[in-house]
Amino acid sequence: MTTLAVPIHDNHFHCKPDGWKGLGAVREFMAAGGTSIAHVRLPSYPTTVAAFEQSCRDHLAFSERIRKETDCRVWSAVGPYPLEPMRIAETQGWDAAMAFARGCYDVAARLCEGGLAHCIGEVGRAHFDVPAEVQARHNDLLSYGMGLAKDAGVPIMLHTEHAEAATMAEFAAMADQAGLRRERVIKHYCGPLVAEGEAHGLLPSIICGRSNLRPALQKSPEGRFVLETDYIDEPTRPNVVMPCDTVPKRVKGMLANGEMAERQAWSIGQEWPERLYGA
Ligand SMILES: [Zn+2]
Repeated sequence: MTTLAVPIHDNHFHCKPDGWKGLGAVREFMAAGGTSIAHVRLPSYPTTVAAFEQSCRDHLAFSERIRKETDCRVWSAVGPYPLEPMRIAETQGWDAAMAFARGCYDVAARLCEGGLAHCIGEVGRAHFDVPAEVQARHNDLLSYGMGLAKDAGVPIMLHTEHAEAATMAEFAAMADQAGLRRERVIKHYCGPLVAEGEAHGLLPSIICGRSNLRPALQKSPEGRFVLETDYIDEPTRPNVVMPCDTVPKRVKGMLANGEMAERQAWSIGQEWPERLYGA
């Protein structure tokens, strides 16, 4: 079997120095043929904006170490995970939580403006049902973050409840309001919502299972999406989402059996990541 050399990007990859595999996860990813990742901060539930900033700086330091010690291209994402302000709200109420979250967003935007980070994420809403009042708070914060992303010239990566086309339309409208181009909004943990009437201009980051990837490739011959594992590098929950080498294995397998065109592989593996985060 001949395998084409194509760039392979995992758009949602968590890995931490004290994680299950740490740097070894990136090495396994690369050994399988991976070439770049979006390295996304894991929540640490800080109680102050200063502690949040420190957690971002630790994350970015690890991104830098990955760049130095492997050949992997690394784009870094930092931002307040939606459950972090919710935790603050439990003890201090929503006014304090909103102030905290806005402060965290400001930190993330500043790190992007300084060139240390390349994306505000993962941010958004809880992945489970919450009262309408809480959802409204999240929406306010997300609009705030979208405005910052626009000003900083970086994309924003959304963690939300399960998305359907209507949810994508809702986020597209929020981006329009904030003046952020829709293609700068990445929907993390997305199904194959790649058709124009499904994505509504947002950029789907699709969980790399065959049942998602097959329809995505069929509906989007140009490959207008990116792929991810949401690998979390958690020692107590190994492979809770997907193993760290899933994207390269899947891409190579589908290129070899003809399910993915080489054109699509380049779009998914390099053109969109560079368009999002910078060449
Ligand atoms: Zn994540």
